[in-house]
Amino acid sequence: MGSNRRQFIFGSLAAVSPLPGLQAKSSPRNISVRGNIICLTEELTRLYEVVPDCDDRGHLYAVRTAAGETYPLLPIDSAAAVWMDERYRQRELNVVARIFPQGPHLEVIKYQSFKDGQLHDLDYFCDVCMISTHKPGPCECCQDPVVFRERPAN
Ligand SMILES: [Zn+2]
Ligand SMILES: [Zn+2]
Repeated sequence: MGSNRRQFIFGSLAAVSPLPGLQAKSSPRNISVRGNIICLTEELTRLYEVVPDCDDRGHLYAVRTAAGETYPLLPIDSAAAVWMDERYRQRELNVVARIFPQGPHLEVIKYQSFKDGQLHDLDYFCDVCMISTHKPGPCECCQDPVVFRERPAN
């Protein structure tokens, strides 16, 4: 194979290969997203008359940044507090998460809040068992209800 031919093949492959930079985006990334929680379905109902069915299908919660970007939350256990506790939907949050090349959804790692401009850690605590958890409900040890905490982050 002559070098001209080789060069031609290389050129053809380059033409159909992914855009520069896509390689770096082909794996999960850790990000922090600051914003408020919205239900994307209800927002699209308001804007475009999408017919909602949140009661039967569940809310499609998403973080909306001040710049107007929208990141839907994967409906997984680590994200549960937004569905279960309205305080998470009333506060401005910092969502620490992973984001994937397949889409804009966030895998929530943890939620923090902004209170008086200060970053706060959020959790639920059983002060009998001294166990911290990420969603409301009975303590996994003693079954007493866990109590919401919002404490300044260091
Ligand atoms: Zn909804
Ligand atoms: Zn307990």
